[in-house]
Amino acid sequence: MYENIDKNLYTPMMRQYLEIKENYPDTLVFFRLGDFYEMFFNDAIVASRELEIVLTGRDAGVENERVPMCGVPHHAVEGYIERLSNKGYKVAIVEQLELPSAGKKIVKRDVVKIVTPGTNIDEKYLDDKVSNYIASIEKIEEGYLLSYIELSTGEAYLASFPNNIELVYNEILKLNIKEIVASKYIDKNIQLTLQKVYGILVSICDETEVENYLDSLFEGVKKEHITGSKRLMNYIIKTQKRVLVHLQPFKYYNSKDYLRLDNNAVRNLELIESLKGNKFKNNLFSILDKCSTAMGSRFLKKSLLYPLVDIKQITKRHDLIDDFMKNFIIVEDIKKDLIEIYDLERIVGRISYGSLSPKDLIQLKRSIGVLPSIKEKLLKINTKESIDKHNQITTFDELYDILNKSISDDAGFSIKDGGVIKSGFNEELDQIKNISSTNKEFLINLETREKEKTGIKNLKVGYNKVFGYYIEITKSYLHLVKDEFGYIRKQTTSNSERYITQELKEREALILRSDERSLELEIEIFNQIRDECKKYLGILQKVSKVISEIDMLIALCKIAKTNNYVRPVFSLYDEMEIIDGRHPVIEEFINSEFIPNDIKLFNNDKVLLITGPNMSGKSTYMRQNALIAIMAQMGSFVPAKYAKLPVFDQIFTRIGSSDDIASGESTFMTEMLEVNYALKNATMRSLIILDEVGRGTATFDGMALAQAIIEYIHFEIGAKTLFSTHYHELTSLEDSLPFLKNVHVEAVVGKNSDDIVFLHKVLDGASDQSYGVNVASLAKMPVSVTTRAKDILSKLLNKNVYDKDILSIKNYSEPQIVEVEVESNQSKEIRSLINSLDVDNMKPLDALLTLAKLKEEINNE
Ligand code: ADP
Ligand code: MG
Repeated sequence: MYENIDKNLYTPMMRQYLEIKENYPDTLVFFRLGDFYEMFFNDAIVASRELEIVLTGRDAGVENERVPMCGVPHHAVEGYIERLSNKGYKVAIVEQLELPSAGKKIVKRDVVKIVTPGTNIDEKYLDDKVSNYIASIEKIEEGYLLSYIELSTGEAYLASFPNNIELVYNEILKLNIKEIVASKYIDKNIQLTLQKVYGILVSICDETEVENYLDSLFEGVKKEHITGSKRLMNYIIKTQKRVLVHLQPFKYYNSKDYLRLDNNAVRNLELIESLKGNKFKNNLFSILDKCSTAMGSRFLKKSLLYPLVDIKQITKRHDLIDDFMKNFIIVEDIKKDLIEIYDLERIVGRISYGSLSPKDLIQLKRSIGVLPSIKEKLLKINTKESIDKHNQITTFDELYDILNKSISDDAGFSIKDGGVIKSGFNEELDQIKNISSTNKEFLINLETREKEKTGIKNLKVGYNKVFGYYIEITKSYLHLVKDEFGYIRKQTTSNSERYITQELKEREALILRSDERSLELEIEIFNQIRDECKKYLGILQKVSKVISEIDMLIALCKIAKTNNYVRPVFSLYDEMEIIDGRHPVIEEFINSEFIPNDIKLFNNDKVLLITGPNMSGKSTYMRQNALIAIMAQMGSFVPAKYAKLPVFDQIFTRIGSSDDIASGESTFMTEMLEVNYALKNATMRSLIILDEVGRGTATFDGMALAQAIIEYIHFEIGAKTLFSTHYHELTSLEDSLPFLKNVHVEAVVGKNSDDIVFLHKVLDGASDQSYGVNVASLAKMPVSVTTRAKDILSKLLNKNVYDKDILSIKNYSEPQIVEVEVESNQSKEIRSLINSLDVDNMKPLDALLTLAKLKEEINNE
């Protein structure tokens, strides 16, 4: 580690570097030297490691010291920055601010931009279906504030939370926020948790005053809430180093304004990705995302994470889906229009950033071009909601007209290649292009003329960057070149000579001048058009939102139609009644038929205790009901024949350790922390899903805990709770807890008596036995294991206690003891396997499986 570097010892260039670096201690400084960005000292060590590039050294004025250095070529810098961003690093880009001149020794350099994980808007870094947020946390008296901004689209939010930092962490994880800005006085515990537990970059910023021109961004923000939002803005300005005109005013919300889903629920219910981490399959988002635009997909994702609680707003969405259902032919046409719409929100961001490409303008044109058609079709549907949406869409006739007349349809990604501005748009440009094409014509004529004059058939007029235009004659014809032609030899190639003439040189100057001027002019016009677009940013953003919502609702309509969903209704009396509900994701992927199930919880039913053998469908049933609630509140139809639901304020989940393989930390402690979080935050308007809680500990412990938790929820909270358990004993709680109801998932024993057939049907009442042993035989365990287990089980069922009689193993024949002198490899293996078993925490099924495996090993001897 290099510390306290004395910059006066070094060369002027290195001094310049060190002076800049001083202001960016927590940032990797990319220092532009010619065609490379170089890093020095500690930055070089870190970057060479993270980017796997060669670490070299450089003499920098101190004898016997080579300063560590590594570099990346300037044309590939984005890729390297992307990798560093993904790893949570910040990068400051230092550019040369003037051209090197003879007199001055060292050119001026400074930071032009800082790229951080939360502010990187490079298209390569951003996923078009994912929002990339940067946030600030602020402690206020009543609790916490979280301000966050999506820089690529300019959306800004301010959320307030009660005095419970867990809620804030949850929001941060749910939004997948990559970077948090905070005061240097931030609570160190919070800072450490963010950094170490959640791996989020924390950036310190203590400036909280912003310039007046940004005032409008804070119009909706209360005075006592403003510091955090301003801190965030300061950080953004400091890193982006430019005026951003696309930022939207902060939208305030209270965490209670949405159905609160903590990060656990999002994960466990597989809303955005499957527990195995699959983003494309086996999650609710991928099922529902039939959107035609990237904006629609992002809107859908946000709606899934933030379902509504206001019945009026939800009803509006349901109404519109209903309207779309009834006008499906028109809707198909709207969908065709939507496909023409590009990522307007991000194009708007690029207009503001000045990183707009000619292609963006073509896309902008196409996108706004279909708006009138969408408007008209909404009008045709002619319902209250569709007309409302019709009214919310503005068309951009003037802007369209300008873009249509100015930008050539096959313009590329870069203005520097020219050919962007259509002819007929600008007189001067047309004239110059005219001259340029006459000149080019002249060259063609010149070639013909020279051929005739010289009698050389393969004489050619060509161009290269170094020598400009030339006349090329192959070696075999050189003898035909005469002095009087006025050819001046310029370049010799392997089989030809290249010449210029006075006439050609003059023409060349004209051509180059007009090409240069035409490009200059194109850039000028392009910038004018971009500035014209800037006038429309705010209104483009508004229309983008309306389009996103329409796109989402059409997607939801489409999926509702193909998958037979029904419009849910809401109960004012705390009733949850779902007839023939299905799991929206599993029903899509399952090979066999999905068995629909009902749930009936009327206002006096709080806890539903769900029993049934392993693999019967308990977890599926609980999840499907939670998913139906979420879908209903996000404004979607639901997979059921009928659904009446309360409006929930929060959903909590704890999915039993056995199913929780993905997280890799299925310890009993996490289980208890999660349950605790639910017990602390749930209200009587919440939905709690507890799947096999208590499974992670010894039987009696687990059972006792499960019962205590159920009683607490039942008497103290009164939240609607779905509690699955393999502790069959708990079903008798129904006698003492008036608001608890038993249901069970039915399974029947097949004709073979060892077979068990899962019916996946949820029925009233408790199941009559535990089926663990049958499942073991399904798992093809050795017959002697299952027979013995059944024998023990029947004794246990009679006695209800493990006693000597059961523990004695008199049924087995005497084991043969073979004396061996040297332990075989196999018995070593078996011994170490047995040694590695965590007997205290082993589940019965695992124990049986292990036994079977051991037995097999021995038999193989
Ligand atoms: P449990 O939690 O009772 O052990 P799961 O809910 O994990 O059972 O379900 C086990 C398997 O049974 C699931 O993977 C699914 O394929 C199937 N299954 C569950 N419910 C149904 C159903 N209603 N219809 C059809 N198959 C189902
Ligand atoms: Mg389960």
